[in-house]
Amino acid sequence: MPSEFDIIKQYFTRNSPENKSVHLGVGDDAAITSIPAGMEQVIAIDTLVENIHFTENTPAEEIAYKALAVNLSDLAAMGATPAWFTLALTLPEVSESWLAGFSKGLFNLAEQFRIPLIGGDTTHGPLTISIQVAGFVPHGKALLRSGAQAGDHIFVTGYIGDGCAGLAIQKTGPEDDDDHYLLQRLHKPVPRIAFGQLLIGIANACIDISDGLLADVSHILEASGKGASVFLDKIPLSDACRKKQNQLNLSRLQLAQGGDDYELCFSVPGNKLSMLECTCNESGLNVTEIGIIEQESGLRCYDNTKLLEVEDTGYQHFK
Ligand code: ADP
Ligand code: MG
Repeated sequence: MPSEFDIIKQYFTRNSPENKSVHLGVGDDAAITSIPAGMEQVIAIDTLVENIHFTENTPAEEIAYKALAVNLSDLAAMGATPAWFTLALTLPEVSESWLAGFSKGLFNLAEQFRIPLIGGDTTHGPLTISIQVAGFVPHGKALLRSGAQAGDHIFVTGYIGDGCAGLAIQKTGPEDDDDHYLLQRLHKPVPRIAFGQLLIGIANACIDISDGLLADVSHILEASGKGASVFLDKIPLSDACRKKQNQLNLSRLQLAQGGDDYELCFSVPGNKLSMLECTCNESGLNVTEIGIIEQESGLRCYDNTKLLEVEDTGYQHFK
């Protein structure tokens, strides 16, 4: 049976990409990093717990990917460039095949974004994964939830609702390519890091969609002291989601309330719309306007001009 130290050495010590801000990584009592001149450090942490965030039979590779991806998505929403990450891993048992899969999923994504694992903690207990990521953003330029202004146009990147549809598919099992696409979107969300960086100087407010589009728009509204109208019929759905929507019995409202999209939702003032258009053309990522920020507080949801009564906006723990 490998010891805690064997596990760290074998599965979590890699010649991973270097980052100039990291002076000491895994191996000592703590890691040492610095912040480049003119930058601020942006830090996020997220925990995944078995049977809460993923089911018992989820492949280790998938768990690792998502644990890191959701953190990178938080950095994307701030406009930050990722620099390094740490991992606190609580394991019920030592399974070498599980660890091999986990470390593969983790380092595949870490290498994609060129960030080293610089430390962590390994303990015994119910399967729990905490990942912390740090990134940098030019001083004073981070995209905050609190910057939305009345009159701003509300946009989302990519497609909304795939995570929600993917979750429904997961319960019944995939049958065709559309189902596999939706599951892929649920399990392997792509953090919008590059696009988040491009939104600096364009967006007044930004958030990543994890709790559900409507809940996350509400977070922007609360932080900004504003209200909004959102038009459900404008929310962009993928072809697969559109095709499966009826079969899965998911309304547009439910898709807008479902979580796990990991797209960005952001608000842009009228005088920056042409800049946004250039940015989209450059990046190749599609964005869709779904609503407008207003002075009057509250979130008003319309479906084809009809005002809906919306009570629950999204997922919350402890509820
Ligand atoms: P200490 O008891 O001083 O906290 P640990 O035995 O917890 O030391 O960790 C030894 C080294 O291994 C530290 O550099 C720590 O950051 C690193 N480490 C521990 N667990 C992990 C992990 N799961 N992933 C990456 N690094 C880890
Ligand atoms: Mg420790």
